[in-house]
Amino acid sequence: MYPKIKRRVTRKVWVGKISVGGDSPIRVQSMTNTPTADLNATLSQIQKLFEAGCEIVRVAVPDEKSAKALKDLVKESPIPVIADLHFATLLGEKAVKAGCAGIRINPGTFKNKANLERLLKICKDYNCCVRIGINAGSLEPEILKKYKVPSYKAMVESALRWVEYVVETVDYHNLKVSLKSSNWWETIKAYQAFSKKSDFPLHVGVTEAGGLIPGTIKNTMAISYLLLKGIGDTLRVSLTADPVEEVYVAYEILKNLGLRTLYPEVIACPTCGRCEIDLFSLYQKVEAWTKRIKANLKLAVMGCVVNGPGEAKMADIGIAGGKGVGVIFREGKIIKKVPETQLLEEFFKEVETFLKEHPERLINPQ
Ligand code: SF4
Repeated sequence: MYPKIKRRVTRKVWVGKISVGGDSPIRVQSMTNTPTADLNATLSQIQKLFEAGCEIVRVAVPDEKSAKALKDLVKESPIPVIADLHFATLLGEKAVKAGCAGIRINPGTFKNKANLERLLKICKDYNCCVRIGINAGSLEPEILKKYKVPSYKAMVESALRWVEYVVETVDYHNLKVSLKSSNWWETIKAYQAFSKKSDFPLHVGVTEAGGLIPGTIKNTMAISYLLLKGIGDTLRVSLTADPVEEVYVAYEILKNLGLRTLYPEVIACPTCGRCEIDLFSLYQKVEAWTKRIKANLKLAVMGCVVNGPGEAKMADIGIAGGKGVGVIFREGKIIKKVPETQLLEEFFKEVETFLKEHPERLINPQ
């Protein structure tokens, strides 16, 4: 059972071959953290992100060297590349001409309006998607003067002003918007207020959210809340961690909301005094293995034979530990008892057999 979510109706825009908004699936994106000018390192990270299910990748373009690398990067990348820009619009022009499918601009950092207008016109010529990325930490001075603090209202006004500016000045509509703060509640309020006034697709997430555990929690609170309200067309879970983790967390959020599935769900018991097997290690191995399978599948890793299968009735296939042995169960019924040493190997075989019998469970990323 999943919550019934009515998605907000938004325009469909395109980041290269990937649609965002409208009836598109909620897109998962991330950002590389290698120096963009280091082509091999950046491409290798993009490849890992792609394999994990990332659909759009953003790279920082802080200097000429990075801008120069973009042409090859775009050519070799399996997914659309977005250039992340601050301050300099000339680098932006180079990024668009290098074939980037999108640019992310933070208008608060763009002081020269004539240059910005020129960049936007080039984006229009190349149909390069523009994300207006409002960040609470870098709002334009007029807005800050009016609101005194970078509140959600200040962020919304800034976003609406910039959307209007692009639409009216350049008559360009291949846009999406983000309104990020490091405070998850402020972030929610900003997206909710903006979504009442505009139908441009929204890129949701919490900025500067922190490491794997605190960052996952902050992002999940904001992103889940928004998605439950139908708000959000693409997401980035920003973490101070390997960007591949951002993709895994994004899919966990989407899966738990019943919005998108890419990886199997692994149900696992917390263990208790009845457990006589090294369940933590078993779980880690199963979890790592599932990262290679893209399927709609529920697996279970349970600590004991007595309660395990019963507790994990909803699982398609599961294992439960015992003393020196383990059992494999399917849909709550024990089908095999094997020595502990062979438990994992037999379990993986059963999962593969199950998938052969149910090929409809395999997922081809869209
Ligand atoms: S499945 Fe067994 S070991 Fe795990 S929590 Fe339940 S009773 Fe304890």
